[in-house]
Amino acid sequence: MDKGLSLKEIGEFGLIDYFKKIIKLDRRVLRGIGEDAAVVSYTKKKYLLFTTDMLIEDIHFKIKEATPYEIGWKALGCSLSDIASMGGRPLYALVSIGVPEKTSFNFIRKIYQGINGLADIFKVKIVGGDTNRAERLIIDVFLVGEVEKGKVVYRKGAKLNDVIAVTGSLGNSYKSKKHLRFVPRIKEARFLINNFKINAMIDLSDGLSSDLFHILKENKKGAIIFKEEIPLSPKASFEQALHEGEDFELLFTLTEKEAGRISAEKKRINFPISFIGKIIEGEKMWLYSKKGDFKAIEPQGFRHF
Ligand code: ADP
Ligand code: MG
Repeated sequence: MDKGLSLKEIGEFGLIDYFKKIIKLDRRVLRGIGEDAAVVSYTKKKYLLFTTDMLIEDIHFKIKEATPYEIGWKALGCSLSDIASMGGRPLYALVSIGVPEKTSFNFIRKIYQGINGLADIFKVKIVGGDTNRAERLIIDVFLVGEVEKGKVVYRKGAKLNDVIAVTGSLGNSYKSKKHLRFVPRIKEARFLINNFKINAMIDLSDGLSSDLFHILKENKKGAIIFKEEIPLSPKASFEQALHEGEDFELLFTLTEKEAGRISAEKKRINFPISFIGKIIEGEKMWLYSKKGDFKAIEPQGFRHF
């Protein structure tokens, strides 16, 4: 038997780093593994964006806790959220499903109503997919989007002294079912990139500590988070807001000057934006509270292994 490293020892992100190392790209690929969506040459003015997200029964949702409509909605929502984080506009999707034999037709019909409900809002066209038998329900949505060359936002781009900002509120996503019902922040991301200079952006899927850490690693920078500035969702604890994940909000950085412009134009902006921290030197995350506590924090979001 192979006595090599186990996946648990390598870890989810270690495995993805390995894929990145062995995969060869060409000039038409501007960004491959490591972004929320891959960025590929397209027209004179635009790039194409590719992203895929898989939902697996009992890992990403529980049949007893989610309606089929919500499962479908979330499946497309996760991919839309990745396009949002690049500043993109979604276009076409392929939907692949693995279904246990005992599943009723009605259940699948409702999953598709959920997918269609969200697709209609953002004018996404479902252009194909794949259907298979599986032990557990699996849905994968592959989504293509586009973004103007001058407006694409990467995880890379955060500058020293940048303000760290988030949309909406964080924490308690599982219990409140936000993770099944969220509206991906496509419109908000488009508004931000059209009106302000956003230096770096990611969507909050793994959790604030984990997703901020992705930005820091990419930029070889550190961050201070101001505890009291984190916008908590109803009934959310601070720990949940920091680590639990699946908020599907946007986390972004911008200069102090641009943040000042946002503050000045708050009345014109019809969604919440909170300034929660600052980019600093060093590759560590620090938590600062008004009480005077100052401590290092580690990324602790969800890992598959
Ligand atoms: P997100 O949470 O934004 O969907 P992930 O953490 O799933 O992102 O993935 C991180 C990066 O790794 C992405 O750029 C994704 O395309 C890439 N990636 C994940 N799994 C694989 C895989 N099996 N093969 C190649 N690239 C992968
Ligand atoms: Mg993402």
